[in-house]
Amino acid sequence: MALISCPDCQESVSDLAPACPKCGRPLHFVAPDPSRMVSVGPEKKASTTGRTVGIGCLVIIGALIILGAIGSHTPENPRISRQVDCEMAIERQLKAPKTASFDDWSDMGTVVTGTVTSQNAFGAKLTKSVRCTFDGMTLQSAVVIE
Ligand SMILES: [Zn+2]
Repeated sequence: MALISCPDCQESVSDLAPACPKCGRPLHFVAPDPSRMVSVGPEKKASTTGRTVGIGCLVIIGALIILGAIGSHTPENPRISRQVDCEMAIERQLKAPKTASFDDWSDMGTVVTGTVTSQNAFGAKLTKSVRCTFDGMTLQSAVVIE
């Protein structure tokens, strides 16, 4: 423990003493309180700011994860996307698009080939080759090879 001097009578008093033994001035109320106030004030502010920043970071991280998931999904599946584009274009040409099932996809970048099995006008199931050409991700043509 340390000795402090009483602000009233300048007597040396233990800093643990609740009051000056000579003049009875309450020490612990006066001395530690202002310093506690000073230290508590900015600490509270700092922790609130820290929490706000923390939440902000979480929101940003969450947004980045979502954006990252969207961003990485699109370029990751160009083959699937070309197949789907081709399937949709071919289905538009079929007599019974709901019966169509596609198979044997082969993606060579600019040319995507596969087979489509669907019912013809007479209800018979026929398998035909399909061939779609792409300029990058843009469908240029979709042909059912008769
Ligand atoms: Zn005193």
